[in-house]
Amino acid sequence: LANRTFHPEDTVIDVEGHTIGGDHVAVIAGPCSVESEEQLMTIARSVKQSGAAFLRGGAFKPRTSPYSFQGLQEEGLKLLQQAKAATGMPIVTEVMCQDTFDVVEQYGDILQIGAHNMQNFALLKRAGKSRKPILLKRGMSATVEELLMSAEYIMAEGNQQVILCERGIRTFETYTRNTLDLSAVLAIKALSHLPVIVDPSHACGKWEMVEPLSKAAVAVGAHGLMIEVHHQPESALSDGAQSLKPHKFQRLMDSIKKMG
Ligand code: PEP
Ligand code: MN
Repeated sequence: LANRTFHPEDTVIDVEGHTIGGDHVAVIAGPCSVESEEQLMTIARSVKQSGAAFLRGGAFKPRTSPYSFQGLQEEGLKLLQQAKAATGMPIVTEVMCQDTFDVVEQYGDILQIGAHNMQNFALLKRAGKSRKPILLKRGMSATVEELLMSAEYIMAEGNQQVILCERGIRTFETYTRNTLDLSAVLAIKALSHLPVIVDPSHACGKWEMVEPLSKAAVAVGAHGLMIEVHHQPESALSDGAQSLKPHKFQRLMDSIKKMG
């Protein structure tokens, strides 16, 4: 179902008139985690002002340590709903498990399945029963073929609205958090009709690399970008080191625009 051989035309996902796929670059931006009303509204207004089409924010967070901030959960989803009402930006938020699927599905416009859950087959099957588009992130040790097979799990259950995301893979390199595999974008575009976006923030883990890697992603033909933005990255509850301050995000949007 994901294979281009049987479906030559590119898929375009449309959420309330905001599209991902085709030849423009869709930008999803926002904090790693929803932390408070003040934090989310500040960031949402500024990324909207800079031209982002979708607002991201995690309410259920997949953290490496169980002692790290786990997210505001349903309260976070309500804040996302409030930010959408204020800005008009559709919401991208992660769904971590089947138990919480219904509540995340109620609030989210695009449901993210994170890298850590790319091969959670029961979760993929549940996502396949949803009417909401699914943003499926590549697992940190997954091949492109495995990513496409995970998309197939969703599509086989009836949901054809799948967006793929390259977010860096684990290699022997330690300077960056992961290694951004831009050739995966080309491979996915050759093999599949599904839209593919790039998340340079999780790929590199360093805010100063996010703008150049975004330009590189656009240069290879990514259909979109997902960028973490925080107005006070020093005190962010997750992923501050890779989060752009609003004025740096504005600069990123300007340089993407210049590329046409
Ligand atoms: C995220 O987008 O906040 C996230 C947890 O990303 P990943 O699943 O790629 O690690
Ligand atoms: Mn993050």
